[in-house]
Amino acid sequence: MEVVKITPRGYCHGVVKAINIARESGRSLEGPIYALGQLVHNRHVLEELGSVGVKLVDGSNRLEILDKIEDGTVIFSAHGVSPEVRRRATEKRLRWIDATCPDVIRTHDLARDMAAKGYFIIYIGKHGHPEPEGVMGEVPAGQIVLVETVEEADALNVDAEKIAVLTQTTISVWDTDELVERIKAKYPHAEVHNEICRATQDRQEAAVEAARECDAVIVVGDRRSSNSKRLVEVVRQRAGKPAYLADNVDDIDPAWLRGVRRVGVTSGASTPSAVTRAVITYLEQLPDQPA
Ligand code: SF4
Repeated sequence: MEVVKITPRGYCHGVVKAINIARESGRSLEGPIYALGQLVHNRHVLEELGSVGVKLVDGSNRLEILDKIEDGTVIFSAHGVSPEVRRRATEKRLRWIDATCPDVIRTHDLARDMAAKGYFIIYIGKHGHPEPEGVMGEVPAGQIVLVETVEEADALNVDAEKIAVLTQTTISVWDTDELVERIKAKYPHAEVHNEICRATQDRQEAAVEAARECDAVIVVGDRRSSNSKRLVEVVRQRAGKPAYLADNVDDIDPAWLRGVRRVGVTSGASTPSAVTRAVITYLEQLPDQPA
């Protein structure tokens, strides 16, 4: 089967930084070392870090996870944490190491600045994802709202002279445009700050372009990875081609490949290249599949 290796794909600079920090901490620090939630959303990476002594502690939010840790070192993930998490970790006398991606730090700084200037913030992002949790923690309650869907955008009822729209770094470029349009229709004076990171945008644009020349696309990534799931969505919605998320070779369903001669492969920003390579090798040795 012909395989189109879509580039750019795979690790971004934020994930590389977080993994290096965690690996180095696992090798050099004394005492227990914990990742506060999934350091990056990929189970292969977490298993590797577990082998050098970085234990994953997970839960529904960062403060709840922190409550489970009593001693040692805690590493904050690439998705960032709220100031309250830092304060609580210090209060508990934990040593903490911050592996937040620089692109996420920039959004934290912006949210804090805009709030200090009196803006009400409409933050476009995903409910239950750690990045919105961290960014929203920078802003006093009642001065920020999380919007994920068109229905939520339509239901907004903001009465503020100054409104700023900020976005999560890993969401879909096109979904965001639609939401921003809705918000601007209601609040023409809103200032829009698109915070989708370069790595996410480049991977989405490359996937959509390549998908147009393919019969189907496989995105190698973890089910919890926001940017991987968005890659699947944008290929389906923007290129109109079938797209599937596979954590590894074993996840590939033969039904996906029925009638496929040319398959595109890309991967999320937290997917190790060895896992993607194994998927490419597997697909390359397959004959063209009958319809
Ligand atoms: Fe940073 Fe973007 Fe990578 Fe997330 S996807 S870690 S924001 S570079």
